[in-house]
Amino acid sequence: MDRLINYNRMKFKLRNVLAYFVAWVFILIGLVNRAKKKALKGDFILSIYFHNPSKKEFEFIIKWFTKNGFKFIGVDDLKKIINGSMSFPKGAVLLTADDGWASNFANVAEVANNYKIPITIFVPTEAIESGNYWFSYAKKAKRLGMGYLPSKMLKNVPNAERLAVITEIKKKINLPREAMTISEIQSIAASPWISIGGHSHTHPILPNCSDDELESEITVNKKKVFAWINYQIDTFAYPNGDYGVREMNALKKEDFQIGFSNKPEYLSPQSLNSKFNLPRIGILEGASKAENICRMVGVWHKNTLKVF
Ligand SMILES: [Zn+2]
Repeated sequence: MDRLINYNRMKFKLRNVLAYFVAWVFILIGLVNRAKKKALKGDFILSIYFHNPSKKEFEFIIKWFTKNGFKFIGVDDLKKIINGSMSFPKGAVLLTADDGWASNFANVAEVANNYKIPITIFVPTEAIESGNYWFSYAKKAKRLGMGYLPSKMLKNVPNAERLAVITEIKKKINLPREAMTISEIQSIAASPWISIGGHSHTHPILPNCSDDELESEITVNKKKVFAWINYQIDTFAYPNGDYGVREMNALKKEDFQIGFSNKPEYLSPQSLNSKFNLPRIGILEGASKAENICRMVGVWHKNTLKVF
């Protein structure tokens, strides 16, 4: 088991070293500067998401953007920009975080409060209740060689099959809590800088759900968050970034205002026309600063590079 963890760590380190050199090439040939200029001119908003960054990583990103003349907007501003009551901003950054990891409490929420930076945290309610994410059970079972389908493959099977496998694994192993608690969600939601968004109830791959499962994943998520913080969530991030027309329509039906994908593209005036299909660029926790700067200004991905 330890050997597998060590091997994966080594692979990640090696990947980070290679990526670090690629990132410096992007910086040295001026790509980062060009992207920065375009964003500051108001060609697009930088829409960025995290999972569980360290305090250092999150703080570095806030400081870098501030130093470079950017300002932070929240999802409420974005809704105003979409409905036309606020003009398209120059040099704007929108921050979101997925899953409600326990470390977010100190590393994201506290830092956002200190720097007065808006951020939306998308929570899967079942994980907040139980303490763990289903994919962590699947990963642990794989490390222990228990013979169940690994999490990658569980993302490709019908939802009922995924749930059955995870229920079996849960009977056999325990995990320490990974997600924030309900009272932590209540505490961070009281901040004017932090808003809570939907991320489904059990974090399934929504396109693998039946129509009924899809509806229940969205409505249970919404009801639970309302019961916890007395707030009707109207912003959603698709778990694993997987969605289609059916999922977008389901959000609309449940009175959501906006939906985020994990499609790494700029939030351009044009992309705002499809408000249940808003792109976000992922920060890679554990990667070099140089790589994450490339990600932050959107020159790390093929899709965004098309702009240059
Ligand atoms: Zn997620």
